[in-house]
Amino acid sequence: MPETFGVYIHVPFCRSRCRYCDFYSTLDETMISRWMDGVIREIALSPAPDSLSVDTVYFGGGTPSLLGSRDVERLLGAVDLNYGIGPDAEITLEANPGTVSLEQLKHLRAMGVNRLNFGLQSLDDRALAFLGRGHSVAEAKNAWDMARKAGFSNMGLDLIYGLPGQGIGEWEKELGKGLCFEPEHLSLYMLSIEEDTPMGRDLALGRIKAPDEGQVADLLRFTLNFMDDQGYPWYEVSNFAAAPGYQSRHNLGYWEKKPYIGFGPAAHSWLPPVRRSNVSDLGLYADLIREGKTPLDMEEELDSEAMRLESFYLGFRTRKGLDVAAFDDAFGGDFFRDYSAVLDSFERKGFIDCGGGFCRLTVKGMVFLDTITLAFCCHETG
Ligand code: SF4
Repeated sequence: MPETFGVYIHVPFCRSRCRYCDFYSTLDETMISRWMDGVIREIALSPAPDSLSVDTVYFGGGTPSLLGSRDVERLLGAVDLNYGIGPDAEITLEANPGTVSLEQLKHLRAMGVNRLNFGLQSLDDRALAFLGRGHSVAEAKNAWDMARKAGFSNMGLDLIYGLPGQGIGEWEKELGKGLCFEPEHLSLYMLSIEEDTPMGRDLALGRIKAPDEGQVADLLRFTLNFMDDQGYPWYEVSNFAAAPGYQSRHNLGYWEKKPYIGFGPAAHSWLPPVRRSNVSDLGLYADLIREGKTPLDMEEELDSEAMRLESFYLGFRTRKGLDVAAFDDAFGGDFFRDYSAVLDSFERKGFIDCGGGFCRLTVKGMVFLDTITLAFCCHETG
């Protein structure tokens, strides 16, 4: 059983809306103080799961760097008061270029924020404009250098690939520029064009063309192999670290099914076997909290079958893979016997590799992550 849990704080404010994004956020920064009051109250009213202590705190968004450092300090104080933040806790804040200052970053570092993740998304000004990001490459570099100057030694950057017309050559150049930042961590996401976004509408109208399946597979294979060669091995299909100590402990917790509590509108929580999410509306969230009501939108208790499916979905995303002993313990079977038919077929194709108590997808298999996961989920174990 885990002895610790993660805390996620959803900061739903953005300066502008990116053209591909369907996350919940608002441009109304005058709501920050109502949001702060709501989150601090929600924290105070939420008991710690089984008296566990907090080993990761993650400020995600939205754009958490729009918060003043005093706001972050108050929020950390509330988490510490209610649960106790462990002395070696990983405290991450997502930041966007153009929304940080040296003074603010120094304060954040001094109050214990020890991991910064910059949403750069591209290092090409034309691509940034296409994505609708509110910053330039020069601002990204400036923000990054400021953070180093402020004392951050554990920094990550996010980039998006699979943009219309982007081939492996362009993507390799972009990655090269990202590596020049000397980050400790990179998150590299394939562009996902959601229907109800400006980019989704452009796609529907035929104004842009998404890469086809073959191009997506080539880009993914290239990315995993290239980053290995550059000394940033992947530990999850979209995440790469310069050393194991720089892997995101908070996000690893998600994939390893550790408990976490999310605060703020649209935040999710996982307190096994219960999954919850808050309402995705800041006004409603603040009203519910003020009235002493829970801001829950959804709560469900996962049965054993749902937990089994989740073990595949989460386990196969990671390089470590599915923990076979933990799986057998949780579901009372014999994984190698029960799934021998699917295992044999995928092993023969070179998609899966089992050993050391884990079953993991190879780079070749990662290209078919969804299909392989589905095959395990649908397999009748008798
Ligand atoms: S900054 Fe992040 S959350 Fe805000 S619109 Fe852009 S992608 Fe979405």
